[in-house]
Amino acid sequence: MYNNDIYNFNDLPKSYWFAQDNNYGEFSNLETISQNEEFDVLIIGAGYTGLSCAINLSDKYNLKICIVDAGIIGWGASTRNAGFCCIPPTKLTINQLMKRYGKEETISFFKNCIEGTNYTKSLIDKYNISCDISGNQNYVLAHTESKFDKLIKESEIYDKLFGIETEIFNKEQFNKIGHSGKEQFGALSYKPGFALNPLKFYLGLLKAAIKNKVNIFHKTKIISVTKKSNFYIAKANNKKIKTKKIVIATNGFYQDGLIKQIDYRILPIISNIIVTNPLSNKELSLHNFKTYSPIVNTRNLLYYYRKLPDNRILFGARGDTDGSDKSHKAISKIIERDFKYIFPEWGNIKIDFTWRGLVAFTSKLAPSIGKIKDENIFYSFGYHANGVSSAPWSGMQLSKIIYGSNFGNMNISKVYKGLPKKIPVSSLRKIYLKFVYFAYQIKDYFKL
Ligand SMILES: Cc1cc2nc3c(=O)[nH]c(=O)nc-3n(C[C@H](O)[C@H](O)[C@H](O)COP(=O)(O)OP(=O)(O)OC[C@H]3O[C@@H](n4cnc5c(N)ncnc54)[C@H](O)[C@@H]3O)c2cc1C
Repeated sequence: MYNNDIYNFNDLPKSYWFAQDNNYGEFSNLETISQNEEFDVLIIGAGYTGLSCAINLSDKYNLKICIVDAGIIGWGASTRNAGFCCIPPTKLTINQLMKRYGKEETISFFKNCIEGTNYTKSLIDKYNISCDISGNQNYVLAHTESKFDKLIKESEIYDKLFGIETEIFNKEQFNKIGHSGKEQFGALSYKPGFALNPLKFYLGLLKAAIKNKVNIFHKTKIISVTKKSNFYIAKANNKKIKTKKIVIATNGFYQDGLIKQIDYRILPIISNIIVTNPLSNKELSLHNFKTYSPIVNTRNLLYYYRKLPDNRILFGARGDTDGSDKSHKAISKIIERDFKYIFPEWGNIKIDFTWRGLVAFTSKLAPSIGKIKDENIFYSFGYHANGVSSAPWSGMQLSKIIYGSNFGNMNISKVYKGLPKKIPVSSLRKIYLKFVYFAYQIKDYFKL
C-alpha cells in the first residue's frame, strides 16, 4: 500500500532505542533460511505477537516451532514503538463498544485489556528483563476544556463499570505533577500502566524464545503459502518450509497476497516519533515537566509523549500517507512544529532522532484473534497502536487455540474474536485515510 521505502527489510530503524546500550549484538549470529525445513508450527513475524506465541507453545509442548521474519531481527514495530503500556487497543468509544457488543462483552474486553498490561509486566518479571520501566500509570490529557469534562465522565465509567483505578487532575493540579503547555486542560490517570524500553523488552522475549529452542530465521520473507492435503508449504529465499500449522503475526507489516482470507482486512497506518536532545533541569522546568508516565492527548489525531529516563522528550503523532523516506522527513518537520506549538517554551530544543513504523487498524476498529475457518492458519493483529500490552497477551491467547483442549476456541471477549470485514475497494485505502485525516483535522481545528 505504501512506498517501498517503508518496507526496507534490510536496514534497522534509526531509532533512539537502537542508539542506546543494549544486548542487540548477542543476536547477530541468527541465520537466514538456507535449506528446506520442516516444522510443526511456522510463525510468520518475529515481533511481540510471534515471540509470545512461540514462548507459550514451547513452554507447554514438545513441538518443532519456527519463527521467520522478513527483516533483520528486531525490524518490526515491536522495537520501534514508544514503549507505552497502555489501553485500550481500539478506536471505538465505550458507547460504540456497548452498542456493538453489549455491556457484558465490553466489560470483559476491558478486563482483558488490563490482563494484557499485567501479562506484559509478568513477562518482564518472569524473564528478568531489564527494560527501564518508568512511570506507574497512564495519563489521558484534555487538550480543550470540553474534553476535560468528557474525561471526568469517562473516569466514572472506568471506575464503576470496569473497576479500573482512575484519578482526575484539573489544569492547575496537572501543572504541578505532570506538565504545563498550550493544550493542557487537565488529565485523567489510570492504573495499571507504565512505560518501557521496547527494544530491551523485545530482546528479553527473543532470548526466552531462543532458550526454549524455538528456531528463528531472520531476513526470511515468506512470499507464498500453498496447501497440500494436511500440511502447508511456505516459500522464502527459494527454500520450502513444510509445516502443519501457520501463525500470521505480521500486524501492520502484512502485505496483501500472502493469505487470501486475510488480504485487504488490515489498514496499516504510519506512526511517527521524534526524540529531543536530553533536556537540562532548567529546560524541563520551563514546562514543569515532572512525570515519567506515558501521556496521550484527546485530539482526534492524537499526540503521544513521555519523558525518557535520560530527560529527553519522546513525541509521537500519525505519520504521512506516502511512506517514502522523503515524506518521512517532511512529516517529521511538521511534527516538530506541532510539538513546539504545544510546548512553546521549547522552541529552541533540538531533535536528535526521528523514525516511523506501521500500526494496524481494521474495519472493526478493534483487534482480531482467531483461526481461519477450515484451515490450520491462525492470526492476531489490529492492536490500533496499543501492542505493548495487547500483542504479548494476544500471542499467548493464540497459543491456547493452536494446541490443547480448547483448540480453535478462546475464552476472551467477543470484541477480539474473528476476522474484520474486508475494506471495500481496498485499492482506495490511502484515499480513505486522507479523507479521515482531513475530517479529523477539521474536528481538531474546531476543538470537537
Ligand atoms: C512508531 C510507533 C509507535 C508505537 N507506539 C506504541 C506504544 O507506545 N504503545 C503500544 O502499545 N504500541 C505502540 N505501537 C504499536 C506496537 O508497536 C505494535 O502494536 C506491536 O509491536 C505489534 O507487534 P507484532 O508482533 O504484532 O508486530 P511487529 O512487531 O510489527 O512484527 C511483525 C513482523 O512481521 C514481519 N513480516 C511481515 N511480513 C512478513 C513476511 N511475509 N514474512 C516474514 N515476516 C514478515 C515484519 O518484518 C515484522 O518484523 C507503536 C507502533 C509504531 C510503529
